[in-house]
Amino acid sequence: MAVAQTTEFDIVIAGAGMVGASLACLLADTSLRIALIDRLPLTPASDSLEQLSSDKFDPRVSAISQASQQLFRDIGVWDGIAAKRVCNYQAMEVWDAEGTGSISFSATQIREPELGSIVENSIITTMLHNRIAQLENVTAISPFSIDSFETIADEWGSCVQLNAGEGQSIRAGLVVAADGANSKLRQLAHFECREWDYEQHALVTTVRTEREHLNTARQRFLETGPLAFLPLRVAQNDDDQHFCSIVWSMLPEQAERILALSEAEFNTELSAALEFKLGEIQWSDKRFVFPLRQRHAIDYVKDKI
Ligand SMILES: Cc1cc2nc3c(=O)[nH]c(=O)nc-3n(C[C@H](O)[C@H](O)[C@H](O)COP(=O)(O)OP(=O)(O)OC[C@H]3O[C@@H](n4cnc5c(N)ncnc54)[C@H](O)[C@@H]3O)c2cc1C
Repeated sequence: MAVAQTTEFDIVIAGAGMVGASLACLLADTSLRIALIDRLPLTPASDSLEQLSSDKFDPRVSAISQASQQLFRDIGVWDGIAAKRVCNYQAMEVWDAEGTGSISFSATQIREPELGSIVENSIITTMLHNRIAQLENVTAISPFSIDSFETIADEWGSCVQLNAGEGQSIRAGLVVAADGANSKLRQLAHFECREWDYEQHALVTTVRTEREHLNTARQRFLETGPLAFLPLRVAQNDDDQHFCSIVWSMLPEQAERILALSEAEFNTELSAALEFKLGEIQWSDKRFVFPLRQRHAIDYVKDKI
């Protein structure tokens, strides 16, 4: 990783999450001088995933399609991700709780080895940050929390200056706002959004099931929202198929009630919500709840942002 000696760059990418860090890697080996900033310290370049354990999973996972896998291959991080742990899912079953509607997909039908892979977000970002540490033209600057920005006249016309607390600032001809769903830059630059509340919350956690998941992703559509079981793998060379990451979308008052249940009560309710397709839920981790909101910017480009 290059050391920050200058505060002027061609491009500043604000936000080193999966999106910002992937973009920084895609711009590697160009003549562009890139700064990747984040309000949080970037994962240390030393491998911080050594303590991956058989029952401790990141509650945030992503379903990575084959196209996204290819992107990660192109930027040189997929092999590292796959060597940690990914669960390739070969089938998907979706059904309706109210009627008899159901649909299923399988990799063999399309002559592919898998439909996609479930990967913990923290594995993806750590591998991206490790890659960034090797890139000559990318400077990682963190912590840097954007407080304000201004447009400044310069020899090429103008550039954007981002300011953080304590007089820290950074300039670039182009700024990419990859600072997440509640983007500070979007608010500061007055990008308007079309948005509405789904009036649903998503409850996420990891569970251990009685039956094996058979590398199948499952989703049941309940009246109050979909319940997804995404298969996980405990280690690269371990075929234990009993762990799943769940995303259970539900009404806010239901989420409040379910969050307050004991582990045993929650496990019973969740087993029934999936119609015992994977038997009893034997164990569940800490639960997290996120409000679900639809949000699209009306414009995605303004001046140099
Ligand atoms: C329950 C749940 C399940 C989901 N499942 C999926 C899925 O399966 N597939 C999928 O594609 N998406 C999924 N999503 C959405 C997914 O989480 C986001 O699309 C993804 O994390 C966005 O990545 P990002 O890099 O844009 O933002 P983030 O991961 O939010 O990263 C933003 C970065 O910007 C930094 N930052 C924020 N503010 C500032 C600031 N002021 N100054 C400097 N840095 C700042 C943050 O520290 C952070 O590192 C899910 C979301 C939820 C809630």
